[in-house]
Amino acid sequence: MLTFHSESTKLRRAKTELNEGLLMTPFECPERVDLVLERVRASGLGPVQAPTRFGLDPVLAVHDRDYVEFLASCWEEWKAAGMAGEAIPNIWPSRSMPGVRIPEHIEGRLGHYAQTGETSICANTFEAAEVSKDIALSALGHTLESGEPSFGLCRPPGHHASSNQFGGYCFFNNAAIAAEQALRHGHSRVAVLDIDFHHGNGTQEIFYARDDVIVVSLHGDPLHCFPYYLGHADETGSGRGEGFNVNYPMPPGTDYARWSAALDEGLARIRQVGAELLVVSLGVDTFEHDPISSFKLRSDDYPDVGRRLAALGLPTVFLLEGGYAVEEIGINVVNVLSGFDAALARVE
Ligand SMILES: [Zn+2]
Repeated sequence: MLTFHSESTKLRRAKTELNEGLLMTPFECPERVDLVLERVRASGLGPVQAPTRFGLDPVLAVHDRDYVEFLASCWEEWKAAGMAGEAIPNIWPSRSMPGVRIPEHIEGRLGHYAQTGETSICANTFEAAEVSKDIALSALGHTLESGEPSFGLCRPPGHHASSNQFGGYCFFNNAAIAAEQALRHGHSRVAVLDIDFHHGNGTQEIFYARDDVIVVSLHGDPLHCFPYYLGHADETGSGRGEGFNVNYPMPPGTDYARWSAALDEGLARIRQVGAELLVVSLGVDTFEHDPISSFKLRSDDYPDVGRRLAALGLPTVFLLEGGYAVEEIGINVVNVLSGFDAALARVE
């Protein structure tokens, strides 16, 4: 399997994350990239290639222009306003303020474009997000041309980013950008399967009213797990999109037997709607020792995840999302990918 990677994903090196009432070093750190890349190389998964550049048009196909412009200038504006630390949102329009306007001051704009308060914007955040989306689009391009699977070693991740808000370490929604481009390339229906521990709330929002992209997400129950407010089983899409958003919320402590049964149901739904290409939001924070999650998948379970995905028989693009038990992230990601490859090899 071909991996797309760029050292420029490491340009974002945030110093602060608001977690458990403390400002700490972010879990989503550049070292994650090194650990996955190391394992890709050591395992002989396949060649590693640099991405090509795609500009912002594919981003603007799923994100609002004013949001993208905000991300592009946020850090400079923040510094120009004399702020001492990183850009951490601390104020939002509330439910009791209908019809609010977007302020001009960067502190107010930051809150307007933020879903959550843990993720800071720092130097080179926009640049890293741009490269991350180039990696996703390069992986998609390879799969579209060759029919072969590919892996985009994306960082920052993307699945929490909605059409107009960042959060949960995500700025551009890489999976949504790739799915949209697959449609523009001629596919009539694409599936996004999100197997990160956290609900892919951004991806859900972007495609909620559409039937050309089916979004299937397996995740921690939003009654108990970040990002909390979306991800329930009865969120099934709206209008034409009714039935094309499928959520499998599961309780903390979920093990592989229960999780893989939900996966099989989700895969059956993808098969049933006739999706022509699969984009996998590949988070491995379902791992039993992940520091910010609560499922109980073991490293040995991940090759079987790859095997089940391969059985779908679709051109497949894997894009890295979360996974924070830094020691094991490389092992678990590559276990999924090599399980997928091994299953394909048996079919051929
Ligand atoms: Zn996650």
